[in-house]
Amino acid sequence: LTAKKALKGLVAMSESVAVVGAGLVGCLAAIALAKRGYKVTVFDYRKDPREKSTTDRNLRSINLAISSRGITSLEFVDVEMAERVLKDIIPMKGRMIHHLNGREESQIYGLFGETINSIDRAVLNNYLLDELDRFDSDKVQLKFSHKLKKIKFRDPKELQSCVFSTDDGVEQVYGVNFIVGCDGCYSTTRDQMQREVRMRYSQEYIDCCYIELYIPPSKTYVEEFRGNFSLTPDHLHIWPRHKFMLIALANKDGSFTSTFFGPWKLVESLLESRSRVEEFLQENFPDAMALMGLENAVQCFMTYPKGALMCVECEPYHVPGGRCIILGDAAHSMVPFYGQGMNCGFEDVKVLMKLLDANHGDRAKAFQAYTETRHRDLTAIIKLAVRNYREMSHDVTSMAFLLKKKIDSW
Ligand code: FAD
Repeated sequence: LTAKKALKGLVAMSESVAVVGAGLVGCLAAIALAKRGYKVTVFDYRKDPREKSTTDRNLRSINLAISSRGITSLEFVDVEMAERVLKDIIPMKGRMIHHLNGREESQIYGLFGETINSIDRAVLNNYLLDELDRFDSDKVQLKFSHKLKKIKFRDPKELQSCVFSTDDGVEQVYGVNFIVGCDGCYSTTRDQMQREVRMRYSQEYIDCCYIELYIPPSKTYVEEFRGNFSLTPDHLHIWPRHKFMLIALANKDGSFTSTFFGPWKLVESLLESRSRVEEFLQENFPDAMALMGLENAVQCFMTYPKGALMCVECEPYHVPGGRCIILGDAAHSMVPFYGQGMNCGFEDVKVLMKLLDANHGDRAKAFQAYTETRHRDLTAIIKLAVRNYREMSHDVTSMAFLLKKKIDSW
């Protein structure tokens, strides 16, 4: 620690774990660990997103599709908790393809009513934080405005020390038995691990930008949709236009969160003038513009943040001796087209807890087994996610063509 920064003190805890990141995966990991008797402290550099005064918009209010992979993982941790945090989900039984000529085509996901489910990421995160508040404070503590800067890995028998910076410029050092890094795709935990273990690591940006748009609730109640929805809420809506696309997922209040995906060059060239954006949106998504309001859509397209999409792969996921492990986007960031980033992160928690249980809490063995058994699955899903961009933006426009291709190959 530098002399300039005051060191408030080393907080020593026994049988303790620092969960870095109070996002979706960090919260679930913390709940699962607390249920197993560990003393959990969750750190996040954000302010508490549930505080009304919080203007922190790091976690954008995008909608996520939660699938059976994610739901069964939540249920594995705690069935009643899963029921509480999933109370706002909207089931989606298929895709609704919006063709350029205005034709709508429903493509059902399964023959037996299988669904994926729309949920607001911020709402789900807040519910999971509420679940952490249900534990006694000697079991779980939440520390916001704490940014992990450095980890000093020590002998497995000693406490690992984590250095955090806080809003008041003070550095805090916490000694814990082990660390679970759930600090997202730009993970500091992963970065610190790379100094301790020979980690194979790759990070790749894909040429795709995303912009969040919005379809407001319909002014009138629509009997057929049982709400103020202007599109059917039980589908994931896609406007596939080959090189770019628009999607929309329903919210409880009747609105839809919509996301545009397209190559950076296209977006940058459109942004050169307002009229180009207007022309582009009207030409390619006339029906969606009628619902969003063209003026409003153009304004959002021009001013809202432009998100980059990347894939992160690494191995191993842990530091030997059961000292540290990374889960969620920290370990495997993937592009969103397969809707599996969070689902997979939730599954990480389930897989790790099963291994901890099977190894009677022997972290060294459980973490080693996690890296050995999880890597193949994670690599596969990262690839599937990239491949699904073509499926969503292009292949869905011609299911008949795909079917013929399949039949021809038999
Ligand atoms: P994050 O949500 O990134 O949380 C990380 C947390 O760590 C944050 O709270 C952050 O503040 C904190 N943090 C970071 N650094 C530090 C530090 N140094 N110190 C302390 N705290 C720190 N997934 C799905 O399953 N289904 C979908 O439909 C889906 N759609 C998506 C659509 C889009 C447009 C995008 C971009 C992603 C989508 N995803 C989807 C992926 C999903 O959002 C992520 O996989 C998921 O949010 C990862 O959760 P996480 O907890 O691992 O990381």
